Amino acid sequence: KQTQRLDKILSHMGVGTRSELKKIVKQGRIHVDGKAVKDSGIQVDPAINIIEADGERIVYREMIYLMLHKPPGVVSATEDARDKTVLDLLRKEDRIFQPFPVGRLDKDTEGLLILTNDGPLAHDLLSPRKHVPKTYEARVLGKVDVDDVQRFAAGVRLDDGYEAMPAELTVLGYEEIDEGIVSLISLIIHEGKFHQVKRMFQAVDKRVIYLKRVAMGELKLDSDLAIGSYRELTAEELTCLR
Ligand code: URA
Repeated sequence: KQTQRLDKILSHMGVGTRSELKKIVKQGRIHVDGKAVKDSGIQVDPAINIIEADGERIVYREMIYLMLHKPPGVVSATEDARDKTVLDLLRKEDRIFQPFPVGRLDKDTEGLLILTNDGPLAHDLLSPRKHVPKTYEARVLGKVDVDDVQRFAAGVRLDDGYEAMPAELTVLGYEEIDEGIVSLISLIIHEGKFHQVKRMFQAVDKRVIYLKRVAMGELKLDSDLAIGSYRELTAEELTCLR
């Protein structure tokens, strides 16, 4: 990696704002390779130079990749006037990197959500041309049958006239509740229109009552990850997104 301005690196790491850093540097509290620096604008290479603030090593990294098990009731946005957002679930030391959710899950939808500050990766994953498959599990009010499986495979027409791409629907089982039969299904879609899964079932006169995303491309939601918690992607998981 290339050299960068020291103040840029330090502000990115949450040590202080650029103007605060000027003072901190003046006070001799920032060391690079063991020497107090005098100028916050010097060029350093965070991969080579050892940067310390108040004697503490600053481990610099630019990119953050998180897997969140999104709970219902939070919105997949970075800001919201009314609702709690997925960013509110992150620890401060991770929020410093300004991650954002890759795509959206509805407020009531659970499951796999990737958060990153890697714009190009997010862009690629969301690109309609890439057709990254997304796997969902759902509980659907009504009896999902072979007919629905075939209609989904052919491409159902949504309420706005849009013809959905072929999708792989699998019936996992049935349950009975007071309102009638509930189908447990798995569905793989290759696009991500607004409320897509719910609208696909609406197109066959059924209603999604529970929705969870379990995979995006090759990346599966870690079943050990408690709802509402998150962790960094492993190097292996990261390569399967690329
Ligand atoms: N489809 C939906 O309808 N909702 C989601 O949150 C994701 C896919």
